[in-house]
Amino acid sequence: MSKPILLAACLLAAGPALAQAQADPQRDPAKTEVWKPIPATVATPREAAPSDAVVLFDGKDLSAWESELGGKAPWTVANGAVTVVPGSKGIRTKQRFCDVQLHVEWRTPTETKGFDGQHRGNSGIFLQEVYELQVLDSYNNATYPNGQAASIYKQAIPLVNASRAPGEWQAYDVIWKAPRFSEGGGLLSPARITVLHNGVLVQNDTVLSGKTEYIGAPSYAPHGCAPIYIQDHDSRVSFRNIWVREL
Ligand code: MG
Repeated sequence: MSKPILLAACLLAAGPALAQAQADPQRDPAKTEVWKPIPATVATPREAAPSDAVVLFDGKDLSAWESELGGKAPWTVANGAVTVVPGSKGIRTKQRFCDVQLHVEWRTPTETKGFDGQHRGNSGIFLQEVYELQVLDSYNNATYPNGQAASIYKQAIPLVNASRAPGEWQAYDVIWKAPRFSEGGGLLSPARITVLHNGVLVQNDTVLSGKTEYIGAPSYAPHGCAPIYIQDHDSRVSFRNIWVREL
């Protein structure tokens, strides 16, 4: 359509609405336009963290992390990834977080022979140090579903199994709402989590019953903002491109 014809078509289409607005000011479409606040601009480069993110690992070093025992994070950094050193214990961020959007990519070992169930590519992303989003090689690897990849360990089975084959990079995108506690330590509102695994919804505003327990029922103990912790579960799981946006 040529520009003058397009303009004429637009005026014709707007005509009735304009006439209606003049006859009845309540029908003015501008009445429902909201112009403030204007959202802040966030740059979103491909293959990199958004401009307002806290970059926790960009492939180069573990300066944002420390050992769970205190001191330097003991895992191996090479080829843009960080890999668990079995037996060295977990690592946690130096910074503490409450509500966050978290992105983390992970890869379980290609070699699976002799490793089954919970022993195959096990790690975990712990929000606020005590709530585990399970990392596991769940590609043709049976285990209890509330302990497979993308489960909230022993609390919530993922909606589907979106796992890729061992040795392939996978991604979690997480929206975490921290639990709230009263001054006296009572639970005001539980933690909630939404997770996309490789772009597929696997936890949809799941409500947590408390901190992760290996044995017994979960329960809450009051806490404030806390580090993000990654588990050493004796598997050489690798991670890359870890960033977080505080909400
Ligand atoms: Mg685990």
